[in-house]
Amino acid sequence: MTSAISPLYVRDMSNPPHSALPDYHTHHQLCRHATGRTIDYARAARDKGIGEFAATDHCPTDIGFGQEHRMHLDQFDEYLRDVEQAREAVPEVKLLLGVEADYYRGCEAFLALFLEKHPFDIILGSIHFRDYFSGDPRKKYVTHQDDHQTAWREYYQLTGELADTGLYDVLTHMDLPKRFGAPGDEKAIREYALPSLDKIAGAGMAIEINTSGFIHDVNEQYPALHVLGWAAERDIGLVFGSDSHSPDRVGDGFEAALQLARAAGFKKARRYHQRQWQEYPISHLPPNSEPRTPSSPSTINH
Ligand SMILES: [Zn+2]
Ligand SMILES: [Zn+2]
Repeated sequence: MTSAISPLYVRDMSNPPHSALPDYHTHHQLCRHATGRTIDYARAARDKGIGEFAATDHCPTDIGFGQEHRMHLDQFDEYLRDVEQAREAVPEVKLLLGVEADYYRGCEAFLALFLEKHPFDIILGSIHFRDYFSGDPRKKYVTHQDDHQTAWREYYQLTGELADTGLYDVLTHMDLPKRFGAPGDEKAIREYALPSLDKIAGAGMAIEINTSGFIHDVNEQYPALHVLGWAAERDIGLVFGSDSHSPDRVGDGFEAALQLARAAGFKKARRYHQRQWQEYPISHLPPNSEPRTPSSPSTINH
């Protein structure tokens, strides 16, 4: 898939500094666990010299899936108006319309219609729950403490199913269970992650380097460097996302993320526009740049 992005739009992206990397994962107070409206994120991006970001708040659903974490369906027009308002008020920043949509079994019919109905630039796909509607907390969440192997197997089963829907552009934070206590070392997840990565490659999707892990207890990006390396080997696309739930985090950690991308073997990253993508090179960093490593071994709070 190639895009119809105008020459003007890509003019300055042949050799971007890390501050110019688009931030393709930001939120909005409508989701009930973030602060700030789109205009606040746009102003923060402008003030940091970030030329482009995507508003990707948690997508509403028709059945109350994860309702405590997202806007209601009838609030979506307000979200659209907010994006328009921010585009008008902060024209220096290119603002993409997106959502972060959870995949869950049975979501496809609603989601396909919803995505068709609105002028989206980018759709992030996430797995935040194994089975949201399960009354059993051991089945509801992406992990629980005493059976990490099952958690990883089911998590990557779901990320593979997400890719198979063909509805998404980018898979977010591709080893999220580590945030909640499942050790995500190479040996533990390889068997489950590789088939999922093959499906992501087959779907033409990208994954993101999500820098919110730098402020979580895991103290590293999502996903880990070994997952990024497997993705680079498969020529899977790459984007950068801060997963900002407050405006001050827009573009946070992107210098480290860019170095990690290179260390993993990525030569290019993707920009999206109207759900089409185009690649730009990221191979211009000084050769002595080292990827960020955790300042201490990853620790998890329970
Ligand atoms: Zn959130
Ligand atoms: Zn997010």
